[in-house]
Order: sequence, then C-alpha cells, then structure tokens
Amino acid sequence: MIRITTFKDRTVAVFGLGASGLATVRALMEGGARVAAWDDSEAGRKAATDAGCPVVDLTQVNWREFAALVLAPGVPLTHPEPHWTVVKAQAAGVEIIGDVELFFRDRTVSAPHSPVVAITGTNGKSTTTALIAHILREYGNDVQLGGNIGRAVLTLEPPADNRIHVLELSSFQIDLSPGAAPTVAVLLNVTPDHIDRHGTVEHYAEVKRRLVDKAEGTAVIGIDDDWCAGIAESLEAGAKPNVRRVSIRGAIDRGLYARDARVFERGAEGREIERANLAGIPTLRGSHNWQNAAAAIAAVEALPEKFRAGGDLQAALRSFPGLPHRLEVAQKIGPVDFINDSKATNADSTEKALASFEGNIYWILGGKPKAGGITTLAPYFSRIAKAYLIGEATEEFAATLGDAVPFERSGTLDVAVRNAASDALASGKPGSVVLLSPACASYDQFKNFEVRGDAFKKLVAHLAAERDGR
Ligand code: ADP
Repeated sequence: MIRITTFKDRTVAVFGLGASGLATVRALMEGGARVAAWDDSEAGRKAATDAGCPVVDLTQVNWREFAALVLAPGVPLTHPEPHWTVVKAQAAGVEIIGDVELFFRDRTVSAPHSPVVAITGTNGKSTTTALIAHILREYGNDVQLGGNIGRAVLTLEPPADNRIHVLELSSFQIDLSPGAAPTVAVLLNVTPDHIDRHGTVEHYAEVKRRLVDKAEGTAVIGIDDDWCAGIAESLEAGAKPNVRRVSIRGAIDRGLYARDARVFERGAEGREIERANLAGIPTLRGSHNWQNAAAAIAAVEALPEKFRAGGDLQAALRSFPGLPHRLEVAQKIGPVDFINDSKATNADSTEKALASFEGNIYWILGGKPKAGGITTLAPYFSRIAKAYLIGEATEEFAATLGDAVPFERSGTLDVAVRNAASDALASGKPGSVVLLSPACASYDQFKNFEVRGDAFKKLVAHLAAERDGR
C-alpha cells in the first residue's frame, strides 16, 4: 500500500467508497491526514464503516475545512452535470482530485525519478497495459500494474527508483489528475465514447491529450485517427516530450508501424527494420492488437536502458498470456479453436474479432442489443459458416443476417455452444473457430460480460471433458 503523506495533518473529503475510495481513505490516514468519507449509497457507507473508515455526512459540514476533495472516477465532474460534492467543493474553493493525482504527488516527494508508464485511449488500454507490464516483467523488472485495470493505484507498492509502475488511466482518472506526469505516456486512439460524461468529443480528446502532453520523457501516440494525429503533430511542435508515433495504416517515420503481423521501424536511409513478429501469437491476433503491440514496444523502449538491457522482446511477446474475455483461446477441441470474446459488447469490438479470422467462423452472438445492432458487420458475413443467436437481440439480428448468413435461434448460451461445437467439429474444415463475440451487453441473461465469458469457458471445458471421456 502507498502512504500518502502530502496531506499530513490536513482534512480531506473522500467521496465514492468503492474499492479505490476505501484504498484512498486508508492511504491518506496512514500518511497522517484526517479523512471525512462519504458515499451516496447506504451500502457504500456501511462498507466503509465496516472497514474502519471515518464516515462523515458531507451534506452537513463546513467545506472550507477541507484541503481537497478526492472523488471516485465514476462520479460526474462536469457532465451530464457536476455531482453535488463537486458543486460544494467549488463553492468553498476546495480542489478536486482523484487517487491517481495522490499517487503522482506522493511520487514527486518520495521518488521523483521512479519510472511510470501510463496508458490511455478509447480502445485497447487494458491489453496494452498488460502487455507492457508483461514485457517489463519478462525483462526481470519489479513491475506494479494497476489503475483502471486490476488493483486501485494506491493499493500498489510505493514508487521507487528501481520499480516500474504501469498504469491504465481512463479519461475520468486523467480529468481528476492535473499533476499526472508519467515518464512515458501512451495514447492509443480516440473515437467518440463516453460523450455523456465529457460533453463533446473535443473535450474528451482534450482530456486524453493532457496525459501525453505532460509526459516527462516520451509520448507514444497512435496516429491512425484524426484526433490523435493532430495531438501528435502539436506535441512535436514543442520541445517536450519526445514523440514516438505508432500506425497500422502504413509505413511512417518517427515511430513504429505494423503490417501483416510484423512491427517495423525505418532505419537509416529509409530502410525498413523488422522489430517484432506477431504472427502465430494467439493473444495478439488481429490488426487492433498490432496497434497495441507496437505501442507497447515503443513504450518499453522509451524507458531507460537499465530496464531493458538483455531483454528478449520476441520471447516476451510470444509468452504474453493475454487478458480474459478478449479473443481468449478458451480451448482447442480437435482442430477447432473455441474463442471467448465476451468483452465485445458492441459491433465495433466484434468487428475486430471477425476481422481476426479468415473464415469458417461459427459465431455466437446476441444479448441486450446496442443501437445500430450488427448492420456494420455485413462486410464480414462471408466469413461466417453459421450464426447462433441468443438473448433479446435474436429477432433483430435474425433480420439483419437474413439470407446472407445461415443462422439458428439458439436462445441460450448452452444451446448455442453445443450446436456450434457439433457443427464446427462435423465440418472438419481447418481453421474453424467457435467464436463468442456477442456485439451486445450481457445484462439480459448474465450479470456482466465476465460472467458470460466464464459461462462460455465452463460449457466448452465440459464439452471437452465429455469428448475425452468417450
Ligand atoms: P479497453 O481497456 O480500452 O477497454 P481492451 O484492451 O480491454 O481495451 O480491449 C477491449 C476491446 O476493444 C477488445 O476486445 C477489442 O474488441 C477492442 N480493441 C482492443 N484494442 C483495440 C485497438 N487498438 N483499437 C481498436 N479496438 C481495440
């Protein structure tokens, strides 16, 4: 755990008492601050009381006593409208920050040269963060991984000169972290998302920009969308940070680019140098993952030499275990791969999955549909051997698939898995995959996408055991 000493002997209001909020309270108290913790929900307050946190009704206090308000990232700062704690804090002139800001302030005091890699972007954050941490660990470093992935930042080990923090940061976390100045910052991409929380895509992109803008050393920027290309260009016009570009669209100067599952860089006289080969690495399948891998490689290389010396990049990439529920190979039964892509809760994500396999896809999809459904996926329909529809989206998706794709109305995941498996195994075609990539939220049949993906993996494991027993 990290002790936050920068608010010693002062009083801090903490609002939002989930896992990161409780960790914040503990970190502040351990560092000698007084804390007034509160949550709108009774359950949150009870959890805090049970954990020994000082719960204080923030509707009933004099806000001028507070040195800061530490807000959980899920609480609206600006849109759709500022939360009531934000209004009160602003009226009293109290600064509003998040746990990531506390981390960076503590680092400035305790270990200003400790390396921090921070990753943001609309898509691919978790994969890239996990891959950077994996490579650095394989190189033999002491690595702490957290933030918007896994553990709350203040539950990690404290910054130290020989310890690398690899942090995934959402735009909400960046918005609450004016002092976040990582050694290396990665901005993967920007597409309109979370506009309900940021008002406009301009504001959303501006928030993302702040992270790379403040990088102490290097900013790694995916330049394949107009927002990020503009950000890269404007940063390059300044003296700091050093900018490394990343593209999967074509050869570029001043950075890394990927083509046909290989990552390149231009050397002297424009000569192409191959830096890594991603072919045959199942956890880095698909061109979206080439972007993630190229960004990860650029980020690792931007760290001081002592963290990279002797490292075998290709071996580290090859051993990347990937993240669950994102094109995860759940099982291989005979020649058929069973792929769990339950994280694909919209058509954009499912498009990445369909683009990652050339054909013979036995596609399980459906759930609670999103606006627009799967109409944008029509260019990939020729890759589908058969579709298995589940959940509320069944009739809408049946209409979209029409005569273009053979399909059945499976209804539930267990029926879909059983039928897709038996069709794929019977087809005997090489490279067949049974792919759960639902393009839908899970809430009509499952608690969340993790539970849905775990159910898929269990069904497939059961099937494999049944076949083994035969
Ligand atoms: P995030 O943490 O930003 O949500 P993840 O790494 O968890 O990203 O990936 C979530 C989904 O986003 C993946 O299942 C895939 O469909 C899609 N995705 C991953 N990386 C990229 C990328 N670089 N560009 C576009 N989409 C991506």
